[in-house]
Amino acid sequence: AKHKGKSAYAHFAPEMTEVSHERLQMESRLRRAIELKELELYYQPIVHTDSGNLVAVEALLRWNNPTMGMVMPDRFIPLAEETGLIIPIGEWVLEVACKAAVEWKEIAGRNIGISVNVSPRQFRDPRFTDAVMQALDNSGLEAEQLELEITERLILDNSIETAEILRLLDREGIRLSVDDFGTGYSALSYLKSYPFDTLKIDKSFVQDVMKEPEDASLVRAIINMAHSLGLRVIAEGVEDEPQTHFLKAEGCDFSQGYFYSRPLPATEFEAWLKTNQRV
Ligand code: C2E
Ligand code: CA
Ligand code: CA
Ligand code: CA
Repeated sequence: AKHKGKSAYAHFAPEMTEVSHERLQMESRLRRAIELKELELYYQPIVHTDSGNLVAVEALLRWNNPTMGMVMPDRFIPLAEETGLIIPIGEWVLEVACKAAVEWKEIAGRNIGISVNVSPRQFRDPRFTDAVMQALDNSGLEAEQLELEITERLILDNSIETAEILRLLDREGIRLSVDDFGTGYSALSYLKSYPFDTLKIDKSFVQDVMKEPEDASLVRAIINMAHSLGLRVIAEGVEDEPQTHFLKAEGCDFSQGYFYSRPLPATEFEAWLKTNQRV
């Protein structure tokens, strides 16, 4: 097993408040989560907006801890980032997700893409690209079937290293998407210079397209801009039918959200695949 993160003691020992005690406890639990097999990937379908056909799946991490129950990523990814634990955790996610995509290809008889979230600390780790290539090698997944989701915030740092890593991944054939598009208050010029394939419109815009004319305008503008730059668009957080009509009318390529399916554990996703995709 890998224990690569720095100890949090260095940061928190001086003021041992109750909060930091809780954090330390959570950190030591998280440190053991991989070897105790407490991490689990859930999978959420990404469908072609027009046909409703499955094109890819986003892997979403869950942590099943015996004392804490199911812990959602918003509660532990920040801690994993700060402690560096995101690096072994992220490697685990890549390995498991790529292998799952290969299994579904056999069930469905066609390629199903897999989207994996990458956090900034993980992306900046010198071994990151090796870990990605390793996951592809170990699983036998074709590079074109893997999409890495990177937040706008990460791109904001505008460093040479960021650009180089993105180009390297792109040259390997791996797809790159901008996650949470529209939330990063960023200049849009990076879209021109970086090799992205896909924009994921943040669910905060999608959720109110039928209620807020401004959100409808923003979503429409993002779709048009993305298409004119040769990028494809995924709307996330699609929850009801009127939203799907809007997105179809606006030509949004792909959709993801509770309307189609919640994120599902692997076995439930396989059942969904069999019933919804006539395989
Ligand atoms: P995200 O990448 O923006 O993922 C989409 C989130 O929206 C997921 O939350 C998903 O369950 C939720 N969602 C999907 N459809 C709908 C919908 O129709 N309505 C609403 N309200 N929500 C919907 P989740 O699974 O809690 O993940 C939260 C965040 O944690 C993710 O946001 C991502 O940033 C991060 N995360 C998840 N898994 C990983 C991972 O393996 N590695 C890293 N670095 N981050 C991860
Ligand atoms: Ca994502
Ligand atoms: Ca590309
Ligand atoms: Ca997102």
